[in-house]
Amino acid sequence: MAGIYIHIPFCRKRCHYCDFFKTTDLSQKARLLAGLKTELESRASEMASEEINTIYLGGGTPSVLSIDELHDLLKTIRQNYLVSAEVEITLEANPDDLNQTLLSTLKKIGFNRLSMGIQSFSEADLKLMNRRHSVVQAFHSVEWAKKAGFANISIDLIYGLPDQTLEEWERNVRIAVELDVQHISAYNLTYHEGTVFYDQLKKGILKELPDELSIQQFELLIRILKEAGFEHYEISNFCKPGLYSQHNSSYWKSKKYLGIGPSAHSFDFNSRRWNVSSISRYLDGLENNRPYSETEILTEQDRYNDFIITGLRTKWGILKDDIQAKFPLKYFTHFQKLEEKYIKSGHIVNTSGIVCLSQEGMYISDKITEDFMVVSKHL
Ligand code: SF4
Repeated sequence: MAGIYIHIPFCRKRCHYCDFFKTTDLSQKARLLAGLKTELESRASEMASEEINTIYLGGGTPSVLSIDELHDLLKTIRQNYLVSAEVEITLEANPDDLNQTLLSTLKKIGFNRLSMGIQSFSEADLKLMNRRHSVVQAFHSVEWAKKAGFANISIDLIYGLPDQTLEEWERNVRIAVELDVQHISAYNLTYHEGTVFYDQLKKGILKELPDELSIQQFELLIRILKEAGFEHYEISNFCKPGLYSQHNSSYWKSKKYLGIGPSAHSFDFNSRRWNVSSISRYLDGLENNRPYSETEILTEQDRYNDFIITGLRTKWGILKDDIQAKFPLKYFTHFQKLEEKYIKSGHIVNTSGIVCLSQEGMYISDKITEDFMVVSKHL
């Protein structure tokens, strides 16, 4: 089981909270697409013995590409890789790029899952975030996607926005439920350095929402979505029964994946590789046979830490026996000590040997994960 991620680093406009690698200059689009094809072809041997179960076009905004350009990328994958008959193929899309005809064609060329960046159903929030689309466009895009035959639609929402009240957030969540989509990803706003929001925060133009209110918004989200029949399967991800994002789940379950495009990461159990976060250096590398990525061989400690980071995020948790089977005893001893501490405080639970975060644990998941991770001084 393996996946392919393709990073399309183009956006028509910059959202004020976003720190993903992207540019609003589309002048290199054709050259970049040629580069992506070259990378796909040249790295096919890395997946020679693997069946590809998931393909994910993310970004940036992959929906800025034309149908022909998207089709071409899928054809290149099919020509060079062993693609499973049940492959999940996701396209990240912004509502204002979509229309009924386009969605029907996307379905025909093989996309079977859409991940839409909706973020909020309030015009004021969309304006604050510098999103391109309107609330009406968001409604239309979901409706059109359903009519086009998409039976696996995910929408992204953001909470913890400056001045966002609990009532405003509740309205967003209830509208999301009414839209009757299969998957919802909801993220707490983070102020990343280098973004407009970060600068506005530093200048005092924006004020961070108090932690207690963000936690109340998270609790409300969990309660409403559970009542509506969603499974809470990862800290920020909810789905109708069984309709997990297979692609993202394979990251959390440490499956092999290939990352294509500038800034994309790859993983093959023994090493991590990341392509340069620069379109010109990426293309220069591909066109002139020069390096365009870095690779890190994973140590035993790195592999243990990855196992913790990914395992603790999901409802599948960490199977304690796996720690004993995969790592020397010192890692198990370290884990056991922290497990006792956090079970006592109610932040994690152990059910038949499977360790998961409790709901309270999810509120401070970063701190707990950091504690469980091993740095050399621990051992
Ligand atoms: S959130 Fe999406 S659309 Fe907005 S700037 Fe980031 S990548 Fe582009």
